[in-house]
Amino acid sequence: MSTNDMHQEIRDAVSKMCLKFDNKYWQNCDEKDLYPTDFVKELTISGFLASLIPEKYGGAGLPLSAGAVILEEIHKSGGNAAACHAQMYTMGTILRHGSEKQKSNFLPKIASGDLRLQAFGVTEPNSGSDTLSLKTTAVFNGEKYIINGQKIWTSRAEHSDLLLLLARTKPLEEVKKKTEGLSVFLIDMRDHIGTSLTIKPVKTMMNHSTTEMFFENLLVSPDNLIGDCNDGFKYILSGMNAERILISSECIGDAKWFLKMATDYSKDRKVFNRPIGQNQGIQFPIAKAYSKMRAAELMLWSAINLFDEGKNPGEEANLAKLLCSEASWEAAEMCIQTYGGFGFAKEYNIERKYREARLYQVAPVSTNMILSYIAEHVLNLPRSY
Ligand SMILES: Cc1cc2nc3c(=O)[nH]c(=O)nc-3n(C[C@H](O)[C@H](O)[C@H](O)COP(=O)(O)OP(=O)(O)OC[C@H]3O[C@@H](n4cnc5c(N)ncnc54)[C@H](O)[C@@H]3O)c2cc1C
Repeated sequence: MSTNDMHQEIRDAVSKMCLKFDNKYWQNCDEKDLYPTDFVKELTISGFLASLIPEKYGGAGLPLSAGAVILEEIHKSGGNAAACHAQMYTMGTILRHGSEKQKSNFLPKIASGDLRLQAFGVTEPNSGSDTLSLKTTAVFNGEKYIINGQKIWTSRAEHSDLLLLLARTKPLEEVKKKTEGLSVFLIDMRDHIGTSLTIKPVKTMMNHSTTEMFFENLLVSPDNLIGDCNDGFKYILSGMNAERILISSECIGDAKWFLKMATDYSKDRKVFNRPIGQNQGIQFPIAKAYSKMRAAELMLWSAINLFDEGKNPGEEANLAKLLCSEASWEAAEMCIQTYGGFGFAKEYNIERKYREARLYQVAPVSTNMILSYIAEHVLNLPRSY
């Protein structure tokens, strides 16, 4: 089967699955701050959530392009894959850097849904975008690592068994470069919640099940360490292209959803005895949003193709994240304007998707950090921070 046929087959199957999770379903989750458990279960049972896990470990062993297509279709249907998308890229950290024992212990259970790996603890309240200054420590006492500190915005932690955690194992004063001395741990949170681990939900403008986490003398064995001690930042960096590409695919799905909603509505809605879509004041913003979406999509596929060829598309993945998140936001703005007052009515879902689409210019990486990356690493301008 050609790659295009494979993508089309996936698109058809995912969009069919998404019919079970209509706007009413997402609206209800949004209004009640519910985790979309049934949706995540269905995505797991259907095998889509494990599409990137190699067959040897119980997944479908598909390339990143398949993951991108799956996430795009979910968002294009009006859904929101943020409830579980992280598993697609955090799993890659175990796959690339974990020991064979860790891979065979965890990946088949993640693929089958017996274990959820949804939580990714990097950001901290006091360091924010300056990841290398994070304060959470993991101190080895000869037998165990003792973890102390705090994370914020650890999304889905209440709905995950496992947590991938970045902590400092060597004090900043003792390392030559700030990138050294950080380590990645895979932690089964069920062993610690209520004793050495406290998770508190953080309410946000959209339904995102995000939390803050407090670690108080949490003990883990060296078996929980992924790869080599003090090399963890490299492992996190190695997953960033995949993360940016997958999130960009969601943005393209969102943009396509807004475009469809706006074109359909502007043909139907009659004001002054004609469809509003007959007015260029309504048509042009739709056409403009479409153009921006298509351009961003081309950059995204350039990143995906390079990634799947085994290259390191840092430039393309960052550009895709920048352009796709901006394209989805422009489409969101256009759509709410096209709907007029009804855009604000919960019933129409525009305001929900509008709130959801805004996130991607801040998380998982803020637009300014991407611009800094392009300035420094692509254009060779001086480092700004
Ligand atoms: C809903 C949600 C879910 C999230 N989920 C996760 C998660 O699961 N795991 C996780 O680890 N993190 C998560 N995050 C955190 C997210 O990655 C951060 O919010 C993001 O990286 C920005 O960090 P910050 O919020 O601390 O902003 P800050 O670092 O405080 O920055 C604030 C603003 O200043 C800008 N800024 C800062 N320094 C510079 C500079 N040198 N040059 C130019 N501009 C600068 C930033 O770009 C930003 O616009 C989530 C965030 C949200 C809101």
